[in-house]
Amino acid sequence: MAGSSALRAANDIQQPNDLDSWWLPFTANKSFKTNPRMVSRAKDMYYYTPEGKPVIDGTSGLWCCNAGHNRDEIVSAIQTQAQELDFAPGFQYGHPLAFTAASRIAQLAPADLDHVFFCNSGSEAADTALKIALAYWNVKGQGQKTRLIGRERGYHGVGFGGITVGGIVNNRKFFGSLLAGADHLPHTYNREHQAYSKGEPEWGAHLADDLERIVALHDASTIAAVIVEPMAGSTGALPPPKGYLKRLREICDKHDILLVFDEVITGFGRLGYAFAAERYGVVPDMITFAKAVNSGTVPMGGVICRKHIYDAFMSGPDNVVELFHGYTYSGHPLACAATIATLDIYQRENLFERTRAIEARWADAMMSLKGLPNVVDIRTLGLVGAVDLAPNEHGPGKRGYAAIEKGFHDYGLMLRTAMDTIAVAPPLIAEDKHIDEIIDKLGRLIRDVA
Ligand code: PMP
Repeated sequence: MAGSSALRAANDIQQPNDLDSWWLPFTANKSFKTNPRMVSRAKDMYYYTPEGKPVIDGTSGLWCCNAGHNRDEIVSAIQTQAQELDFAPGFQYGHPLAFTAASRIAQLAPADLDHVFFCNSGSEAADTALKIALAYWNVKGQGQKTRLIGRERGYHGVGFGGITVGGIVNNRKFFGSLLAGADHLPHTYNREHQAYSKGEPEWGAHLADDLERIVALHDASTIAAVIVEPMAGSTGALPPPKGYLKRLREICDKHDILLVFDEVITGFGRLGYAFAAERYGVVPDMITFAKAVNSGTVPMGGVICRKHIYDAFMSGPDNVVELFHGYTYSGHPLACAATIATLDIYQRENLFERTRAIEARWADAMMSLKGLPNVVDIRTLGLVGAVDLAPNEHGPGKRGYAAIEKGFHDYGLMLRTAMDTIAVAPPLIAEDKHIDEIIDKLGRLIRDVA
């Protein structure tokens, strides 16, 4: 009996016979289930289908697996931890690894971003940061500062806080009136002024000044925080215009508004630095992270807070809970073990510096796709690239969907799309030959979906 159930489990991993039960997230389920894109194994730069066909990972999974897949040190750290301490509550109890993981993360963050609140995902991180911002003003005696400012085309996960400050219409329009009291800065993309820019576009810093308009409309005394992704990721990789983030920081400082960087994608080396905050020389009040913190191996996210935020909460009486917020799995031992092992790899292999070193070569490789049929813009930043395709006659998003399908089945390439924008962001261990393979396949794919 035990033998046959073990056999069934192995078969299920390779070839599930029920495709019905799992409702896949952010997926066209009906189409998917007629022609599924399935992976069952991964190593370093490649996924493998159940039939054993390699699929090069052009997207680090979902912008997560920056150290590449199934790295031995991470696997063994998780295994060892599971045998040592499987779970420990983070409410009123602690375990050593969570403190170590927090301080390792804090060491990578700039300035006095010294305190880490753990959760399990980017969505939870965004909602946690927004809640900390509101609670912060409360403990400071300024509880009227409640307004939250996000940005058009921003993505901060799928919690109600995140979709409220987020700026993607499909993520908002089905879900009622969302949270009250949110405003949005304009997005920073303008093809006319920015087309085919490598790195940060020259045009657009002035778009940060729209925050002054929002302040004039509502008064700074009602505004708690501004949250932006340093590079908007989910709507097709929009690098920040030169000087834009600095300007945002200046306006927030001027009006006593907290600034949150959502670094769920940009954190842990994607832009060649531990955090984009370092690349841009801008210190936000909080940084949210997830994904690559442990190379996507165990769900983990968090918020890194500056000293003044943490201290505001610690100035109350003893024996009183300071922040009524947290998750059962905050600081989960397996996630922490995976985090420490991953940060060791990032450090030992100099993966952030390495990304800086290959950024120009990557940008040139991406730009070589210019001129292919229907390509209307290409953007690059760090080890991220995006190609905008003109929509086909069947409507927006159809060409992008075809790219996902054909990319996987015909070319063995995993990528991301946002409507008709293709985004690629390979693991930071990518060598020249991998970059060549991705660009070659992408080029052929773009011709194919023309
Ligand atoms: N913020 C940003 C900037 C993201 O890119 C994402 C996920 N792509 C999230 C938040 C949400 O993360 P999760 O899917 O882990 O909830």
